[in-house]
Amino acid sequence: MEDVFVLIAIVVWAVVGGIVGYLLGRQRGTPEAGAAMGVFLGFVGWLFILTWKDERTKCPQCLGVVPKGAALCMHCGSNLQKNGAPAPPLQVSAPTNDREG
Ligand SMILES: [Zn+2]
Repeated sequence: MEDVFVLIAIVVWAVVGGIVGYLLGRQRGTPEAGAAMGVFLGFVGWLFILTWKDERTKCPQCLGVVPKGAALCMHCGSNLQKNGAPAPPLQVSAPTNDREG
């Protein structure tokens, strides 16, 4: 019967580790990798996750967290591609005449 308890312990370990890893990874923008780390490494994986860099994009206007690659901030609606994307430096486009009339 001890084998069963060992099996249950392993399953519980993997499930709990995966859930906590998922939640920790989600705070870093990589929930899948976090879950995998939690399942295979348990609390050691959690510690690893805590050292990860935050992969999420932050809105420069309201500092809200937005999904990676988002074009618009879902909090304040500001354009993120203007500031966030690695735009070519000093691309001077000939400005059209704004004067109307
Ligand atoms: Zn914003």
